Amino acid sequence: MSYFLLDDYANMEPYLPGEQPAGKWIKLNANESMLPPSPAVKKIFDEAEYDGMGFYSDPHCHKLRIAIGDVYGFDEKNIFVGNGADEVLAFCMMSFFRKGMKIAFPDITYDFYRTYATTYGLDFKQFPVNDDFTINVDDYVNYDGDVVLANPNNPTGLAISVDDIERIVKKNPERMVIIDEAYIDYGGESCVPLVRKYNNLLVVQTFSKSRALAGARIGFAIANEDIISDMNKIKFAFNPFNMSTLAIDAGSAAARDVDYWKKCINEVRRTRDDFKKDLRKLGFKVIDTETNFVFITHPNYRAEYIFAELRKRHILVRHYNQERIVNYLRITVGSFDVMLKVLYALKDIVGDPDESTYK
Ligand SMILES: *Cc1c(COP(=O)(O)O)cnc(C)c1O
Repeated sequence: MSYFLLDDYANMEPYLPGEQPAGKWIKLNANESMLPPSPAVKKIFDEAEYDGMGFYSDPHCHKLRIAIGDVYGFDEKNIFVGNGADEVLAFCMMSFFRKGMKIAFPDITYDFYRTYATTYGLDFKQFPVNDDFTINVDDYVNYDGDVVLANPNNPTGLAISVDDIERIVKKNPERMVIIDEAYIDYGGESCVPLVRKYNNLLVVQTFSKSRALAGARIGFAIANEDIISDMNKIKFAFNPFNMSTLAIDAGSAAARDVDYWKKCINEVRRTRDDFKKDLRKLGFKVIDTETNFVFITHPNYRAEYIFAELRKRHILVRHYNQERIVNYLRITVGSFDVMLKVLYALKDIVGDPDESTYK
């Protein structure tokens, strides 16, 4: 730590992203899409104006906000876009949260919420999820501060209902409720329609998963237009050109290619459901996920052992050094062929499910 770092950040613990190794790996540790982005995006990248790159991008990101608005039935004024959902969440924190303010989220969830909470010095509360990893909604309904929830949750893959979200939002119009719908396209019910009814709800989504554009960094929020204009005000004071021209153009093209997007989602869901069945045959306990990943544990083998064995076979999945889920693995669902390879590897590792050597 240098002499200059603010005391405020002394205890900050940065988020640890999933490894991005070089070389040939089957990479199933960051829930990226293994299908290519829309062919319309390829056209943008191929034809991107070399000369045009000399000019700044549109700081209002009109084209992208209008495209997203058209898909979800909202005006551009209700859409904020950022350099990934992570930046959208960061602008939200910067705009509406100050040191000492109260925010709640589950003990098992996307670790970035804890990172933001410590960065901004928030008084955060992590409600333990139930033993089956479901969220106890009343914890949040009765809490007297703001709330951030991933729905479906990461890494468990479990979703709560829109009715439950509405109960949290409705209980106290003075608290902000942020719902992170990074995986909503794969299952669960989106609470975006509630935005028309409540002024204290902010829904965040991303192009990184179902639209296969993690590398382009495109995330967005849908909320009441005052909330969006506040966030834009902060953005203009911090980094007006947060989205590159390539991201704006590629994002607009991907958003408008609804047919391709739906086709990819269906393909992943089908592969996921087959993969789940086969995992159960190998003796795994599989959480009933609604996302593009599975969350699994095996009664006879430690997760860390399976993780290491998969790694030896150049298959990278996610293992968490967190007490309650230390015996679980999160595996992204890739293409059908890739999941077949993973299945064979797992079969090789855990062998006959009747064998009960706890390794
Ligand atoms: C992947 C993920 C994000 C990050 O999305 P980016 O747009 O890539 O920043 C946000 N929230 C959750 C819960 C995620 O799993």
